[in-house]
Amino acid sequence: MSDVYAQPTTGAGPDAMCDLARFTTLRLGGPAGRITTATSGEEIVQSVREAQGRDEQVLILAGGSNVVIGDAGFPGTVVLVRSRGLRVLAEDEDSVTVRVEAGEPWDELVATTVANGWSGLECLSGIPGSTGATPIQNVGAYGQEVAETITAVQVYDRVEGVTGRIAAADCGFAYRSSVFKYSDRWVVLAVDFRLTRSPLSGPVRYAELARALGVEVGDRVPLADARATVLRLRAGKGMVLDPTDPDTRSVGSFFTNPVLDRSAYELLRERAADLGDPPAWPGAGDVVKVSAAWLIDKAGFGKGHPGPEGVAISSKHTLALTNRGGNASTAALVELAREIRDGVHHRFGVTLHPEPVLINCTI
Ligand SMILES: Cc1cc2nc3c(=O)[nH]c(=O)nc-3n(C[C@H](O)[C@H](O)[C@H](O)COP(=O)(O)OP(=O)(O)OC[C@H]3O[C@@H](n4cnc5c(N)ncnc54)[C@H](O)[C@@H]3O)c2cc1C
Repeated sequence: MSDVYAQPTTGAGPDAMCDLARFTTLRLGGPAGRITTATSGEEIVQSVREAQGRDEQVLILAGGSNVVIGDAGFPGTVVLVRSRGLRVLAEDEDSVTVRVEAGEPWDELVATTVANGWSGLECLSGIPGSTGATPIQNVGAYGQEVAETITAVQVYDRVEGVTGRIAAADCGFAYRSSVFKYSDRWVVLAVDFRLTRSPLSGPVRYAELARALGVEVGDRVPLADARATVLRLRAGKGMVLDPTDPDTRSVGSFFTNPVLDRSAYELLRERAADLGDPPAWPGAGDVVKVSAAWLIDKAGFGKGHPGPEGVAISSKHTLALTNRGGNASTAALVELAREIRDGVHHRFGVTLHPEPVLINCTI
């Protein structure tokens, strides 16, 4: 465990070393009081306990790909999660259960599962960040969610000061949500996944992916084909991190797809009558999930729409807000997000909600 930086309490002002921007994919965020790197579950717990002992606020930060940190930064201790490792907990002819340390880079894990013939994560290829962050918002893409394969989450409970295990059924997994999101209570130390031994993917559920694979929805394809095709589709949308592509300096989708009850959806259809039916998918119960990208586009915010200081909607994906210039502030990004949210509400009466976790800023 090492302190990357501890801000002096007197003397020199904030140093570039403590700038949180370099730990986020948006390259935005002001200074931290202290930054500590933890390379094992034990070190994560120790760092959190020490910070609590100093009466400091704690921010757990891993890949920084789903956070928007304010320009004032974070006054307490930032614990950088860098623990690594995967071990097989149980296996039989049909399945394998693995425990993966929180800091394990997510896409490296997905690549390993595909190479080993473990089916269940292949459609989640190319998502940036760490394994420990995937339960936080029940990471999902192309018809798969981690909630389908997670069996348990190993945690440190900051309220009780103990480590423990939360079974998947108690994680409150929902669309881009769980009991962990916006809760300071739990630190994820490791995640257990049960994967199916199979050379084939699960049934392909996402129409765009099925089309790209040349199969029907519901078909299965070789795991490596699913992974390669998802990576190709994602790259075309700027949804795979690429240091040379400013469209990937983002948090991925900035807004979640709004989930509307039937009457709200009918009202939306009326307000959008001149545009045709908004793309939508039935959800659990009598709700409808509507495409946020469509709403944003039809409200007049197309790809490349500029905000202040060089922030802009991605040129490849309407849902991604990007820091293209390099010198932008979080305030500028938030201003663009507000303009879009208010514009969509004005045009369609639907409120968009941010997908990333906002830290010391608000839209
Ligand atoms: C180009 C791009 C594409 C993306 N595509 C997708 C996508 O398709 N689907 C999707 O769901 N997401 C997507 N995302 C969002 C993001 O990659 C995921 O949410 C990812 O899981 C975040 O991981 P991270 O390690 O970067 O988390 P961070 O950004 O470091 O943290 C995110 C939140 O989780 C908390 N956290 C992180 N680790 C822990 C831990 N060990 N214990 C407790 N709390 C923790 C943090 O405090 C913070 O609140 C995309 C992002 C980008 C930049």
